[in-house]
Amino acid sequence: MPAFATMESGFQLNQVTNGPIHDLGKVVTMEGSHTPCGGGNRRRFLKTTAAAGAALVSAESLRAADPAKPAVPLVTLGKTEQKVTKLGMGTSWPFEASFVQRALASGIRYIDTSESYENTKAESAIGQALERTGMRKEIYLVTKNSKGHATGDAAVKVYEQRLHESLERLKTDYVDCYYIHGITGKEIGMFKDPGVKAAFENLKKQGKIRFCGLSCHDAMLPELLEAAAECGWIDQAMIKYNFRDVGKKDRHDDLQRAIDKASKANLGLIAMKTQGGAINFPDKMQALKDKGFKKEVAAIKTVWMDTRMHVVVSEMTNFSDLRENVAASQDPLTTTEMRLLEEYRKTTAHLYCHGCGDLCETAAKGVPVSTVLRYLRYYEVYGKREQARALYQALPPVARSLAEANLDAAQAACPHGLPVVDLIKRADRQMA
Ligand code: SF4
Repeated sequence: MPAFATMESGFQLNQVTNGPIHDLGKVVTMEGSHTPCGGGNRRRFLKTTAAAGAALVSAESLRAADPAKPAVPLVTLGKTEQKVTKLGMGTSWPFEASFVQRALASGIRYIDTSESYENTKAESAIGQALERTGMRKEIYLVTKNSKGHATGDAAVKVYEQRLHESLERLKTDYVDCYYIHGITGKEIGMFKDPGVKAAFENLKKQGKIRFCGLSCHDAMLPELLEAAAECGWIDQAMIKYNFRDVGKKDRHDDLQRAIDKASKANLGLIAMKTQGGAINFPDKMQALKDKGFKKEVAAIKTVWMDTRMHVVVSEMTNFSDLRENVAASQDPLTTTEMRLLEEYRKTTAHLYCHGCGDLCETAAKGVPVSTVLRYLRYYEVYGKREQARALYQALPPVARSLAEANLDAAQAACPHGLPVVDLIKRADRQMA
């Protein structure tokens, strides 16, 4: 059973005071929005009109007034034994160094990035912020190997080269954790591959990484997480996990069992994609807003209530998101939030792809339904149109041969009643 602590069972969060939020020069958002963690049409491009001013911000001014009372509560990240903030900054969107400084000013000390985010620009912006603030040692920094999932004898060289390039951009000598990014079911053998293990050990020995990890939102996430827990050399895992999964026992049993196993192995567990879809259900969202309910905030708080999870990485693309999520890290989920979120979950369950790909993909014969629907989400919900198109077009031809696929059978196999035929055709129209 998942260690899901309910309000009734006495769930408590540390009550801490909010740290100061400093003005780092004039930072202008083109549009305000609020959809933490991969918010869709909220892709807001931030630009600073006072970069020079931001560069002068001292590390001192970014630290919480009272270090004993961090603005964002700290947690121990599994077997890494590191104290990190339970809220992490996601960086898969266009941002500038000044925004990273703002996140630091608000108390966040966990930054998650990848060589692939914004085609390396995310790492560069973070590097600039680290250089300006001199706060490298106070931040738990994660980056990921996206392009070179080498195995066997080739792994040591490939991982070393890819990390070297990331470190240059991040302007640091080391990262706290280095990930295999977006590991897929086909790559499950990597955990037992001596070459991959040697590559990570080599980087550890050189002091370039402190811990090893992975990120995953594949349909085989439960199997991959279990394999990671068994292999012994993975320290932390970042997984797709949202309020639709938390505390659920039916279809999510495999995932819950895998999280249990990872938790027993004391892996650091990081949740991403915590929103479980938002902009695809505007009418439902409006109904919640009319009740004064912040679904995005409640969704994050719900993940935090699962005591096996340590950190939520959230893409906060404007100051309002940042402020609200930092505030949310200090308050437990209220009974009203819990009830309204559950209502929302129920009324949108048949519209949300749960990523249980094996059920419909066997029937579809060739089309990786859950992957295509994930890319459609990137396209429509997260507003990452170019990235989504590139990903879709990189799929092998058989995955896009809709004429040959049996989409009707895939739709019939979906236990959640998703209109698979329409969705896949829509995905192909938009991203082909
Ligand atoms: S379409 Fe249905 S069966 Fe297929 S991955 Fe999504 S929710 Fe699961």
